[in-house]
Amino acid sequence: MNIRLFKPCIGDEELEAIKEAFGRAWLGLGPKVNEFEKMWSNFIGCKDSVGVNSGTAALHLALSSFRFPAGKKVLVPVMTFASTAMAVLYNNLQPVFVDMDEMTSGISMEDLERKYDKDCVAVIPVHFGGHPVAMDQLNSWAKSRNLKVIEDSAHSAGGKYKGKALGTWGDIGCFSFEEKKCMTTGDGGMISSDDEELLKPLRHSRWVGINKDTWQRVKETSSSSHNDPYHWYYEISDIGYKYNMNDLMASIGIVQLDKLENMNNRREEILTAYLQGIQNCEKVRPGIPYHLENSSYWMFMVKVKQRDKFILYMKDKGVSTGVHYIPLTFHPYFQPFKTETPVADQAWKEFVTLPLFPELSTEEINYIIQCINDYKG
Ligand SMILES: *Cc1c(COP(=O)(O)O)cnc(C)c1O
Repeated sequence: MNIRLFKPCIGDEELEAIKEAFGRAWLGLGPKVNEFEKMWSNFIGCKDSVGVNSGTAALHLALSSFRFPAGKKVLVPVMTFASTAMAVLYNNLQPVFVDMDEMTSGISMEDLERKYDKDCVAVIPVHFGGHPVAMDQLNSWAKSRNLKVIEDSAHSAGGKYKGKALGTWGDIGCFSFEEKKCMTTGDGGMISSDDEELLKPLRHSRWVGINKDTWQRVKETSSSSHNDPYHWYYEISDIGYKYNMNDLMASIGIVQLDKLENMNNRREEILTAYLQGIQNCEKVRPGIPYHLENSSYWMFMVKVKQRDKFILYMKDKGVSTGVHYIPLTFHPYFQPFKTETPVADQAWKEFVTLPLFPELSTEEINYIIQCINDYKG
């Protein structure tokens, strides 16, 4: 056995979509990006979406849309991928690290209240591993403190909380289509909101600040009624980045979005098997309270007391493992922002991520469960 940790679920349909993009010979920012954005908005149920080239770029731009004064503070979980906090620093803001909730491994509501002060302007909840943050509670708390909510939904494309799509609860939602996530475009990301005015400037800032994309200009020029020698004209009125999604990514995204519900259902099935399979195992316990209905769990995380031993044991059995994540303040770069996060500082030492992807076979799942149950510690 040699079982990897994550594997994108891609095949002939994606290849066909790429082939069509090649046939059109338009690979950059173009009509497929618009099409994918509309499909995405429809799918999650929001007014508008802007496609970018990564989830990190999505977070950077989403936060920039509020034009917070430099030096203000943004509350972020300490237990997340680096991008959540990097996006704060890209905007010349200060990350304030919030401890983990022991039960959910997501952001702790109690510690949010403790860490809040008057300089805080926003909070970025992360649906850790795909487990939804209680967004109704978080939103009402944030509103009472006058904070903007940027939802980092990188782990939870297609998931819901109380029947409403994750990524549509906050002021802005950010998604990642990196190859390991719930669905992929190779690399890619999406910014979604019901506030179209908030997103409008982001169409420029993802395209080096240019107020008219090339496809728009080509379309206008080629229309028969067009007779404007200034068709090439555009304006730059604000800072911009080279963050656009391109037609190649969007072509893959359209196919993947079509498959997303099936892929998430398959993840649910696998998690059901895992959770049943290890329910009597004392050494290895689920690390997240998996509520599987309407879910989009991106990883299978367990807690193991002697983690290193378990990781080597699984390696010996041919099963890949990972650790998500080292608390961010343990990294040298984030150390100046260190705060008290006693729960995360302890809990992460037991975290182990096990294989989860739609194409994991029943045989492989049963094998992994067997290995876990045979583990003597
Ligand atoms: C993956 C991830 C991101 C960044 O997404 P990319 O597409 O890889 O840039 C942001 N936040 C979290 C929590 C992630 O896991």
